[in-house]
Amino acid sequence: MGDQNREAGCLCGAVRIEISGAPAVMAYCHCESCRAWLGAPVHAASLWPTPNVTVVEGEDRLGVFKRTEASHRHFCTTCGAPVLIRHPTLGLTDVPAGSISKLSFEPTVHVHYGTKVLSIRDGLPKFKDFPADFGGSGDTLPE
Ligand SMILES: [Zn+2]
Ligand SMILES: [Zn+2]
Repeated sequence: MGDQNREAGCLCGAVRIEISGAPAVMAYCHCESCRAWLGAPVHAASLWPTPNVTVVEGEDRLGVFKRTEASHRHFCTTCGAPVLIRHPTLGLTDVPAGSISKLSFEPTVHVHYGTKVLSIRDGLPKFKDFPADFGGSGDTLPE
C-alpha cells in the first residue's frame, strides 16, 4: 500500500474520484444495509480518512441515501453504481474496494458476521457486530 493516488468511480464514468494515501482499514462488512445496497452477499470495504477522498468529476451527478445518519451512501444518478459511503461520525469515507484502481484488497477483519449470508473461511477475526473500540459488542463468532 504505497502513497500513490488511486482512482475510482461509477460504472458509466460520469463520476470520478481520486484517493490519496493509505486506507485506515480494509474489511468485509456482512450487514444487511451493505448487502441490500450492493445486491451482493458481502461488502469489500476500504475506509479512508475523509479528506483523502475527492470527487474530481461529476459531483452534481451524485445522489445520496441516508438510512441512518451514520452512513451517507452516494451513488451515480445516471448509472446507479455505488460510489462512496461517508461516515461523518468516524471521519472516514468508505469506497467499495472493487471500484478502486491499483488497490490490493487486504482485509484484516469481518464485521457484522452475525448477519452473514456467506461464510468465509480465511482465518480473520469475525465480529458479531463491531469491535468494542468502534462502539460494538466486541463479540466474535466462529467462521
Ligand atoms: Zn455513472
Ligand atoms: Zn455494512
